Amino acid sequence: MNIQGKITLKKGKEHSIERFHPWIFSGAIQAMEGEVVDGGGVQVVNFKGKILGYGHYQNGSIAVRMLSQNSEMPAADFWVTKLQAALALRKASNLPSTTTNAFRLIHGEGDGLPGLIVDYYDGVAIVQAHSVGMHVDRQAICSALQQVLGDGLKTVYYKSQSTLPGKVRTPEKDEYLFGMSAVPHVIAEHGNKFLIDWEEGQKTGFFLDQRENRKLLGDFSKGKKVLNTFCYTGGFSVYALQAGAELVHSVDASEKAIALTRKNIDLNGFNPNVHECYAEDTFDFLKDKQDHYDVIILDPPAFAKHRDARHQAVKGYQRLNMEAMKAIKSGGILFTFSCSQVVDRQLFYDTIVSSAIQAGRQIKVLHHLAQPADHPVSIFHPEGEYLKGLVLYVA
Ligand code: SAH
Repeated sequence: MNIQGKITLKKGKEHSIERFHPWIFSGAIQAMEGEVVDGGGVQVVNFKGKILGYGHYQNGSIAVRMLSQNSEMPAADFWVTKLQAALALRKASNLPSTTTNAFRLIHGEGDGLPGLIVDYYDGVAIVQAHSVGMHVDRQAICSALQQVLGDGLKTVYYKSQSTLPGKVRTPEKDEYLFGMSAVPHVIAEHGNKFLIDWEEGQKTGFFLDQRENRKLLGDFSKGKKVLNTFCYTGGFSVYALQAGAELVHSVDASEKAIALTRKNIDLNGFNPNVHECYAEDTFDFLKDKQDHYDVIILDPPAFAKHRDARHQAVKGYQRLNMEAMKAIKSGGILFTFSCSQVVDRQLFYDTIVSSAIQAGRQIKVLHHLAQPADHPVSIFHPEGEYLKGLVLYVA
C-alpha cells in the first residue's frame, strides 16, 4: 500500500477509530495534506497529530476505510500478513476440510480489509473490490494471494464490474489476473458437489454463506416434501436430497438459475424423479399451495440495500413469510432468511412475528441462524453481521 496523503480528523471524531471501527465519514475530516487521491493510501491523525492508523481514501460518504489501526506504517508485506491472518482464522474453523474445499478467504471489515471480498473455490480465487482503493491495489492483492496460497492456487479472477462505484468501472470486462481455470469448475461442500461459474454466475459464482445452514436443513429433510425457493444453484435442494427427502421442488425467477440447479442435481447423481424445477416468481408460486409442504426454505435476495428501502423490504419479508407459513403442513418446518444489512436481527424477528399473526399459525423458534465462520464479524463493526435466519416449527 502506497501512503501518500495525510488526513487530520476534527476534534472528537477520533473516538470511533480508537474503538477500532474501520470507517471515517467525510464530515469527520478537518484537513487533508499531501496527495489525497481517490483510492490512494492515507495516514490518519487526530487533531493533535497523533497517528491513528492508515487506510484507503475515497471521494464519498465513507472517506477512509481503515486497513491498519496502529501507528506503524504498513510494511511491504502488508497484504501477505493480512492474508495469512485470514487463512489462519479459516484453518481454526476447519476450512478447508476433507469434505469442503470452497470458502470465503477475505470478508471485508471482518478480516480488517474493508472493501475486499475473496472467495476461494478449490484452487480458484475470485477477488471482488467494493472500494476504489482495493481496485487500485488489485495486482498487489493477487501477488499476495499467490504467495500465501502457493502452488495450490491456479487462477485469480478479478470480478468487480458490478460492485465498484460507477466512476472507476472501466470499459474492459472482469479479468483474469493470474491463470485461467476452465468454467464451470466443480467444488465440494460437505461432500456435495457444485458447479461454479464465476464468469457468468451471480456474485462470485456461489453463495458460500449458507453452507452451515444447508447442512442443518439435512436434519429436517428425510422422507419430507421440501420446497426450496430463491434456489439459485439449488444448494439447499442438494442437501435435502442428500438427506433423503421424498420430493424437492426448486423455484427461482431466473431460467439460468434453474438450469444450474438441474445440473447440480445431476452432478450429485440423484434420481431426477424426486426433484422438480420451476422458473417462476416465488410469490406467484406460493399463491395456491395451502398445506402443501413439510419443509420450506425462503432465501430471497436482499429486499433492501439502503435504509430508505427498508420499509418496503419489511413489507416484502412479511408477505413472503406469511404465504410460506400458509403453504406448510401442520408440524412442518420453515427455514427463513434475510441478507439485507439494513434489516437487523430484531427487526427481522419482529417481521416474522407479524407474519405468524397474519397467517394464524402457532410457531415455535427452533434455531437462530447466521453467517458461517468464514464470514467473520469484527466485534467493533457490528454492521458486518448481515445474514439472519430462523428455523421455525409451524404447528
Ligand atoms: N438460496 C441460494 C441463494 C439465493 S440468491 C443459495 O443457497 O445459493 C437469490 C435468488 O433469488 C437468485 O437466484 C434470484 O434469481 C432469485 N430471485 C430473485 N427474485 C425472485 C423472485 N421474486 N422469485 C423467485 N426467485 C427470485
